[in-house]
Amino acid sequence: MACSSQSMTIESYPEEAASTSFAPTPTEETTLLRDRRRRHSFHTARKLSCDYDADAVFLRVELFLAELERRMHWIEEYRKAHMVQIDSSMRRGYATLEAVRDSCSFASGELMGSGKKRAKILVETLEDRYNDAMATKETLEQKAQVGIRLMESFLVEMESRAHAVRDRGIYGALDDGWKAMDSKLVHAREVVDEGMERARRAKDALRDSIDNAVILAQENRLITYADLPHPWRVNPHIQKGYRFTSSKVECFTSMFTFSNELVNIWSHLIGLFIVLSVAFYFYPLHTNFHLSTKADILVAAVFFFAACKCLVCSTLWHTMNSISNQGLMERFACVDYTGISFLVAASIVTTEYTAFYCEPVSRWTYILLTMSLGIGGVILPWHPTFNRHDLAWARVAFYVTLALTGFAPLAQLSYTRGFEWCLYFYAPIVKSVLVYFAGACIYASQIPERWSPGLFDYVGGSHNIWHFAVLGGILFHYCAMQDFFAVAFQRAAGECPHLFA
Ligand SMILES: [Zn+2]
Repeated sequence: MACSSQSMTIESYPEEAASTSFAPTPTEETTLLRDRRRRHSFHTARKLSCDYDADAVFLRVELFLAELERRMHWIEEYRKAHMVQIDSSMRRGYATLEAVRDSCSFASGELMGSGKKRAKILVETLEDRYNDAMATKETLEQKAQVGIRLMESFLVEMESRAHAVRDRGIYGALDDGWKAMDSKLVHAREVVDEGMERARRAKDALRDSIDNAVILAQENRLITYADLPHPWRVNPHIQKGYRFTSSKVECFTSMFTFSNELVNIWSHLIGLFIVLSVAFYFYPLHTNFHLSTKADILVAAVFFFAACKCLVCSTLWHTMNSISNQGLMERFACVDYTGISFLVAASIVTTEYTAFYCEPVSRWTYILLTMSLGIGGVILPWHPTFNRHDLAWARVAFYVTLALTGFAPLAQLSYTRGFEWCLYFYAPIVKSVLVYFAGACIYASQIPERWSPGLFDYVGGSHNIWHFAVLGGILFHYCAMQDFFAVAFQRAAGECPHLFA
């Protein structure tokens, strides 16, 4: 029954017999097999044909499944790379192929009748999804052949799409890649060219501006803020009275002439002489001096040296900041900053030295901490970022932080000797700290010239006030240092005379 119907059904495929393909399709193969056997005996042929047809279909199923594995692997690779393109329109077909492959692979371990079993599974899997196509066929072989044809069409469709995607992907991607690369290179070149052109123009403009300022200063002696080349502009509220020269000698001689730097230069130059007179005249006369050890004198000397260095650096900067060489001008600015850092650090060291007069370990720990920060403050100004005009607040913040570290020992001292002792000990320094702090705030906020630009160009500007604050701070600190030493000597006599025996 099965055989006759099988034979009948195979003959009912006219489109397969009319196939124009040179390579025999699976159905053509079975047709050829069938026709060959018919020549011998109808019955035998029918029987053989029936058996061969079924076997051929199952063999074809086997071969197809093996091929399916390989072809799907290839598609899978492309699916990973081009999932969207392949899957969006072929998702159902692909899922069917996957289902067939997976379900048939379960039967792969069986040696006998595995072809039939797999054909069965293949058909069942396809019937779930494409019942319409399978319903017209009755036998397993018929259905298996329809299923293979259906799956073959899915595969061909997917493979051709994958090829198309791959070709378009490679050439399209290459094309797009080159185009993008080209446009990026062109853009980058334009940006670089534009940047270089702009830099060149800016450099030319700066050189012209410097030359003009030098000529203007030669003609008028003093120039305005607006006449200054940009790198020399620091405080827009100081509007006039600027010197500008290409000669170092002229910078030096201009310190004796009237300009907006006159007060700044002389406040610290005179301040230097005051500090020197304190260091070499008043300090040796002080009672403390006669009680001091060499180390004590050394600490005081470091403070005097730092104060003098600060004042010298400041005087140097304000004398030389009219030099038309930008690099030189910026180096003098750094010299000014490093002077301040060293002074702040040295001042703090005197407090730490005297506060822990009988505790050498604590003393040197705090001193090392402060000196490290002080060294940082000496190095930092040489970094270009530190000198940026818009970072004036950052510079002030750094110095204020450095100054505040001077109070780091407060916690330990409060714990070991009580808070009252700390207040008593640190009281002398309050004046100098307040003076420094107020001066720094005034310096950074550009008060009072900000309120009345032009009015404080020569005298009374924020920088003048800052200079007097620094000088006042130095002198106040000297007084405080003497008080610290006095307390330290008293403690030493009672608590640690052995240290100085
Ligand atoms: Zn200054």
